[in-house]
Amino acid sequence: MFEFKILKKDKKNKARLAEFNTPHGKLTTPELAFVATEAELRAIPKEFMPKLPVNLIIVNTYHLWTKKIADKIYHLGHGRDLDGNTVHNYANFPKPIMSDSGGFQVFSLGFGKSQGVGKIANIFPDEDQKVGVEVLGIPAARSRGLSNPKRALTGKKLRQNLLFDTGNPLNISDEGVEFTFNEEKLMLSPEKSMQIQQRIGADIIFTFDECTSPLNTYEYTKNALNRTHEWLVRCIKQTRSSQNAGVEVLGIPAARSRGLSNPKRALTGKKLRQVPHLTNQALFAIVQGGEYEDLRLQSSKFMAKQNVPGFGIGGSLGMSKEDMHNILDWTIPNLPEEKPRHLLGIGQVKDIFECIERGVDTFDCVIPTREARHRVLYTKKGHRNIRKLRSFNEVIEKDCECIACSQSVTFVQLAQLFSKKDPRAFFYATAHNIQFYADLMKNIRTSIEHNRLSKLKEKYLRYYQ
Ligand SMILES: [Zn+2]
Repeated sequence: MFEFKILKKDKKNKARLAEFNTPHGKLTTPELAFVATEAELRAIPKEFMPKLPVNLIIVNTYHLWTKKIADKIYHLGHGRDLDGNTVHNYANFPKPIMSDSGGFQVFSLGFGKSQGVGKIANIFPDEDQKVGVEVLGIPAARSRGLSNPKRALTGKKLRQNLLFDTGNPLNISDEGVEFTFNEEKLMLSPEKSMQIQQRIGADIIFTFDECTSPLNTYEYTKNALNRTHEWLVRCIKQTRSSQNAGVEVLGIPAARSRGLSNPKRALTGKKLRQVPHLTNQALFAIVQGGEYEDLRLQSSKFMAKQNVPGFGIGGSLGMSKEDMHNILDWTIPNLPEEKPRHLLGIGQVKDIFECIERGVDTFDCVIPTREARHRVLYTKKGHRNIRKLRSFNEVIEKDCECIACSQSVTFVQLAQLFSKKDPRAFFYATAHNIQFYADLMKNIRTSIEHNRLSKLKEKYLRYYQ
């Protein structure tokens, strides 16, 4: 299980075409995970899930836990069978599923909130400045007495002045992160995150880490990194001790596949407790370290030594896209070639190409589905804003196979549905953007196979800069 096989490597860069075996089928990479926050893709009815060109989804541990959906998923799935096939049943999605650790969502409640970096699409302060968005750091900078924080953010020298570590509304300790949800005090720790993710039953799970903000100082980022490394050890320990406990977890199908007629009893036996990797979940260890080269080097080397099936690259990816590229160039060469690498929270068209060329295998991003709800459609000729094209009487995209385009839905019709708040508007727009991204990833895989990645990149980037 979880064998990662590289089929082809690009000659000019680090891009690779590969296959990753999971209990719910073979995943061909590069691939993008669509975000199903509460184990559902927003605007998509569950019965339609098998008809979508989706090969991978990611669910959010924080939301599933705090909204009690994780328990529901567990009991539903567990009552029906003992295959641990839980979240797949709930989502009506029989293919590979990832679950995040909850670390990023918790971060969004802390520095993410106080420093204005909570939203995934707004994680690069400098990029946001370029497009003039009034986000990240600016309110925080104003409150710190900078008269022109907007200019300050774009100047590298002044950048240092913006870094600060105060005002985190969360209580973060070595034990875990304490926060209030619905007036209830909750604690998310490495052990808790692992337990919830085991209950959910995704194929790929992530270690619990402390995400930092691009506005945190070096000292803070360094301490958070040390904590993340200690938490990683606890995450691994927790998954192993759950396996050994036997009954209530997901080792049973794994034991069955190993030819054990009564895995339930076998798992409780002392002999089998010593069997390593008796699990059907792949734990990915997340590299942290912010935008600091020495910390990223330290973290990637530390993670590479761990006996885990794959890696995530997370946390603050710096102030700009350039910073993100540097971070990948520092990190990826230290990770084992024969294991998959997932980049958390990135998914703009240009970024996907840039990051695949730097050796990233999988991504997850809210962009395709969230932009659809904001009336922005992705087409081969760039973004199309429905608000601006409400009198454009043409099919969204002629050669697109999505449910909307195959029924010849036009911009005019879609705009009318949106103005009436008809649920079909969100459904059509979301299904179209999913088709665009599914085609993009498929084209990328084919292009790597035929040594044409750079040509494909050039074609897409004419419209996506
Ligand atoms: Zn379409």
